[in-house]
Amino acid sequence: MDRQLTLMVVHAHPDDECLSTGGVLARYAEEGIRTVLVTCTNGEQGDGPGGVKPGDPGHDPAAVAERRLGELRESAGHLAVDHLELLGYQDSGMDGWHTNHHTEAFANVPVEKAAARLGELMEHYRPQVVVTYDETGGGGYGHPDHVQAHRITEAAVEATGIPDKFYYTAIPRAAMRRMFEMMRASGMDLGDFQPSDDFGTPDERVTTVVDISPYVERKLKALRAHESQGENIFLLRMPEETQQQAFSHEAFERRLCKVDAPAQEDDLFAGLRP
Ligand SMILES: [Zn+2]
Repeated sequence: MDRQLTLMVVHAHPDDECLSTGGVLARYAEEGIRTVLVTCTNGEQGDGPGGVKPGDPGHDPAAVAERRLGELRESAGHLAVDHLELLGYQDSGMDGWHTNHHTEAFANVPVEKAAARLGELMEHYRPQVVVTYDETGGGGYGHPDHVQAHRITEAAVEATGIPDKFYYTAIPRAAMRRMFEMMRASGMDLGDFQPSDDFGTPDERVTTVVDISPYVERKLKALRAHESQGENIFLLRMPEETQQQAFSHEAFERRLCKVDAPAQEDDLFAGLRP
């Protein structure tokens, strides 16, 4: 019997699944590959109704979590995710927030403890391909929960030895620059926002670029499902044509490959297909 091909992506918060992996989730599901989305936290440090910020009066972390997990289910539906697994940890908040110090915050959970839970999911689903963030939490993002997701995934991959291929999501610097040029050219007002030179993934680290252009619409639908965080998702304000161009590819850095696959590839499952 052929092995069921399985993709597992590990993300920190509800909504993180969309931008860096929404296209590959949708594409591989359509190809008949089983997809598993693991979301580590409940996102309770996100915006509340009406854009109420965490720590401000009226911000109710439990209500925010409930709403965001509902949005996550809707998003996963648009991306045809087969299995959504919630680790249920507490959102640590952005780097420097006082919530970083909560003992229950995901970033403070001992790595081996959380990695053991993720390892059980790997044992259960036996994914050939696993994806998470790089050591900076993704192209220099630095959010403590993203860095922690990276740590526990590294540990679980190593402990179980299950995946044949292991990847970090990548935001190639060249593609970033092109995207900002496109946004400016389309007349978007970006103020004086300018990505710093060290934002994004150094281009030479990118090994894998997957064409997801037929799935841009679904990726955007998934992103829109996270309505409560809409204020942060400025990308949705881009003109449609620019979105189509900006989102047509997803990039990755391959960290482990036990099969025969080209050094530069256009498919996470290169070398794994029958
Ligand atoms: Zn996040």
